[in-house]
Order: sequence, then C-alpha cells, then structure tokens
Amino acid sequence: MSDKTNPELLGESSKKRCKFCFEEMDARAVKCPHCQSWQSRGASLRGSPGVRLAAAVVPLIILAPLLFFSFRNLLSLDRLSGKGDFEKHRSGIKIVQPKMTFDSYDVVILGKVKNDTPVDWEDLQLEMTFKDADGTVIDTDTEKLYITLPAGKETSFKVRSNRAGPKESYHAFDIRVTWAEKSRF
Ligand SMILES: [Zn+2]
Repeated sequence: MSDKTNPELLGESSKKRCKFCFEEMDARAVKCPHCQSWQSRGASLRGSPGVRLAAAVVPLIILAPLLFFSFRNLLSLDRLSGKGDFEKHRSGIKIVQPKMTFDSYDVVILGKVKNDTPVDWEDLQLEMTFKDADGTVIDTDTEKLYITLPAGKETSFKVRSNRAGPKESYHAFDIRVTWAEKSRF
C-alpha cells in the first residue's frame, strides 16, 4: 500500500494519527503513545495477556500427546534394540506341522509359521537341513519368505530345494527361522 492511499497517514510518511485521540504518532506504532489505544483489533488481540497465554499454551496442548507418544517409542525396548529384536524373539517365531514332499527335482517343505511374539515380522529367512537314515546331513538350503507375519498370527508356506541325491536318501529334515525383519508397515 502506498503512503498516499492511507488516510491515516499525515503528509510525512513516517507519521499517522490515532483513530481515537487523533494525536500524531509513528506510522509503525500499534498502540497510541498518548491514549494507549490499540490501533487495530489484531494488534490489541496480539498484545492482550490472554491471547499471549493462549499462543503459548495451545501449541503445548496439541504437541503434548505427540511428545508423549514419541517418548514412549523412544523408551520402548523393542524400538531401541532395533535389529537385535529377532534374537530376543527368536523362540516365539515357530515352524509348525512341517511336511516333506518331493517333486521331479526338488524336495519341498510345506508348513505353517506362527508368530507368538508381540512384534510384526516380514522377510523371514528359513534354513532347511536334510539328513539320511544314518542321521548324516546330506543337504542344506536357505529360502526367504517375502511375507508379513503379524503379531499373534500364523501363515502357511511352501519352500523347495533342488535335490542333491535321490529322494530315498531324504530321510529326515529340520527347518527353522534364522532371521526376520521387523515389519515396517
Ligand atoms: Zn490516541
């Protein structure tokens, strides 16, 4: 706004007149130095103690729950321990009812993986070990399951491994979860 369009301004651009007592004051003044009147509603609100208090307190009221929850997360051992989580929860991530079958070239393991931990997991790493009738390890393999396994849930899986020998030699097997990532979702 140019100075000439403002009726409150005097000839000199750095001065204006008070709306209430009509005394002269600096053009930038928000409060009249003569009668103490606020020169605009906004200025009086900004200057009032109630509004100042509200300006300080309202953001705190809004931020307090956010701060509370982020502190809780910071304090949570689950989050602090990060990748160490799997080691802590390893025994709660269980393979149940695994079965070994065969097709033309592979040995196939079907089963369920159950999550008895309070954490959601994903990208489970499975390790398979196969033994012959004497208990000698004849083959081993790893497979990654790109699944999400929520806390308390179970899910079916099927993994396969190229056979190292005839299927008759596959007498026993072991399968376990060797790693899982905490779910990011
Ligand atoms: Zn005044």
